[in-house]
Amino acid sequence: KLQKGIQHDGLKAILEEVYSRNPEQAEFLQAVRGMALSIAPVFEKHPEYLPAFRMLTEPERQVIFRVPWVDDAGVWQMNRGMRVQFSSAIGPYKGGLRFHPSVTLSIIKFLGFEQIFKNALTTLPMGGGKGGADFDPKGRSDSEIMRFCQSFMTELYRHIGSDTDVPAGDIGVGGREIGYMYGQYKRITRDRAGVLTGKGMGWGGSEIRPEATGYGVVFLAEYLLADRGDSLEGKRCLVSGSGNVAQYCVELLLEKGAVVLSMSDSRGMIYAPEGLSREDLAAVMKLKSQHDGKLEDLELEGVEYRGDAAQPWFLDTEVFGAFPCATQNELGEEAAKALVKHGVQIVLEGANMPCTLEAEEVFTAAEGVAFVTGKASNAGGVAVSGLEMAQNRSFVPWSREDVTTKLQGIMKAIYDDITGAAAEYDTDLINGANIASFEKVAKAVLAQGAV
Ligand code: GLU
Repeated sequence: KLQKGIQHDGLKAILEEVYSRNPEQAEFLQAVRGMALSIAPVFEKHPEYLPAFRMLTEPERQVIFRVPWVDDAGVWQMNRGMRVQFSSAIGPYKGGLRFHPSVTLSIIKFLGFEQIFKNALTTLPMGGGKGGADFDPKGRSDSEIMRFCQSFMTELYRHIGSDTDVPAGDIGVGGREIGYMYGQYKRITRDRAGVLTGKGMGWGGSEIRPEATGYGVVFLAEYLLADRGDSLEGKRCLVSGSGNVAQYCVELLLEKGAVVLSMSDSRGMIYAPEGLSREDLAAVMKLKSQHDGKLEDLELEGVEYRGDAAQPWFLDTEVFGAFPCATQNELGEEAAKALVKHGVQIVLEGANMPCTLEAEEVFTAAEGVAFVTGKASNAGGVAVSGLEMAQNRSFVPWSREDVTTKLQGIMKAIYDDITGAAAEYDTDLINGANIASFEKVAKAVLAQGAV
């Protein structure tokens, strides 16, 4: 199944090898297969890139460790932590930490693999890595979170550094967790150069970092629509998720005059037939800052709640834009078909790999639908992480305007890059993004030799 649709013999052999090494890692195999499906034409022009792709399918290093901690009741708890340093071909390993009960090596490896190529698209010199733990922050007290973060860092510190590997947040890791981990890191090392990104304002953080991923998605949507002589004004949009990415995606969509019909969490969704207001969004943000707030508990005028893990994609209403901002594989083939039926024109991934490969196929086969893969559309977050590193290094923080302008410039460069590659290879934007990013990394791998 991994090789289905892949003609190139060299690529097939690589996929076979990846499968035989990682037969259980479904999400990782999905990410590698997605890349392979796109980049086959590159090897016609550049057969020498094939060994680079093979190297990139195996992390440079992966660390798995025990995270012991004591809960508020005095009970010993234990989780599994990990960090995958996937590729340093273009710079220090860079990528988030995810704390979620679903975390496995496969999940962290798919995220780390995607991160290599996403980071390459940002134009900043960052390699790819990812980490996390199967820890469930839901329902945990602030002091439990602090003890967990401290214990996690008590092992992680020896594997990271401001010059070598710079983690940030992801699902379950926001400003609070970054703060606790950063504090612990400084107790046990002499490194003061900023080792984590997503730090708070006033202690090394960057303006716009919390907003960056969601804002970046919307900037990219704007560039895409501008090319068609269109804008987001008045467009009916579905957003999934209600965490950091979804919140700021909705915020900027509203600012651009779009009509945002939905947000969701793991239990269900809110649906506003007339569109969510800024006040509704503020209520969602407040609720979600309480860490275990559920959308179900919101009572907002003109906003319906649908439980049983209902998803926005199946709403029986006309839709222009879809922004999956929740988690991997949240949007499958049936959901994609429903969206196409309801007239969707643009799909931009805010989460990492939210659409299955089958859903991607539905979107690419549909007439006039533009689909932008997460490694391009959600790169704004890690891009501003890169800008945070630059500010830490220069010892000079930049203004909100400065960082926003730079983020816009980066999202525009990404848009130009992926449309450029799509034009060069006469293909769609998924392939354009995969090809553009792969070529950058492959060149760097080859230039540095078989190391
Ligand atoms: N977790 C984010 C991502 O998926 C950000 C990573 C970072 O800032 O290093 O790209």
